[in-house]
Amino acid sequence: MLESQKEATVAERILRSNSTSTGNWDWSRPPSGRALDELTELNNLITSVNISDCPDSWKFSLDASGIFTTSTMSNLINTLKFGANSRNLSITRNKYVPQKVFIFLWRVTQQKIPVRSELDKKGIDLDTILCPLCEHHIETTEHTLVNCQKVSPIWSQILDWWNQNSAFISNINEATITDQGFTYNSTGSSLWQATKWITCYIIWKHRNLKIFSGKIWNPAAIISEIQTQSFSWISNRSKKKNTNRVAPMASQPVILCIISLISHGCRLKCR
Ligand SMILES: [Zn+2]
Repeated sequence: MLESQKEATVAERILRSNSTSTGNWDWSRPPSGRALDELTELNNLITSVNISDCPDSWKFSLDASGIFTTSTMSNLINTLKFGANSRNLSITRNKYVPQKVFIFLWRVTQQKIPVRSELDKKGIDLDTILCPLCEHHIETTEHTLVNCQKVSPIWSQILDWWNQNSAFISNINEATITDQGFTYNSTGSSLWQATKWITCYIIWKHRNLKIFSGKIWNPAAIISEIQTQSFSWISNRSKKKNTNRVAPMASQPVILCIISLISHGCRLKCR
């Protein structure tokens, strides 16, 4: 406010000599009172400032690269909100699944789906916090999507379907993020991840149908829906498409079929 030349540049007001910067002020009146304190603080701040001839630019000071990206910002917020380990739970978009599946999985990784233990933490009064499927264990995200005795056979079948008989899904990370050392190429890994996400999504859907619509838990029907829905979503989102009809895949090592079909430009059709 006391600057007499309102259009003055910073370079005109900060003089550099002998590795020290000093103010080259031009006040409309001598600073006094609180303004004098602020001027003292300003003089201290500019002492080490070095004005260069480079064009002005923005620098993102929260990252060493100086470049702002939304993912960096997102990670910083997650770290502040959920702790340093939250980065391990961040997921990135998978092009083979619809947005609603991705959003659901993001909520899973953030412990945001309304399982009974989470509702209880929020002070919601429930008759029980036991799993609605097995009714033996507290219902947590990991339990209801992975470890429940009513759910683990579904994962076994899905692994079997993918010809991964020796592997197993034992925690929510393995169900959502990690690859468990699968040796597929990046397309194969994305397809496997998409299948795992669709599995979680459909397990959750049927958990809700059981609670809210009284539908009987039917693992065979759920597995069938996972397979059909995986075919539909993945084939509709693969780049190469045509209208070839492909017989239903039943229990074959379907991963090889999917990768082969997508890489050869075939569109899957399930009956
Ligand atoms: Zn259970």
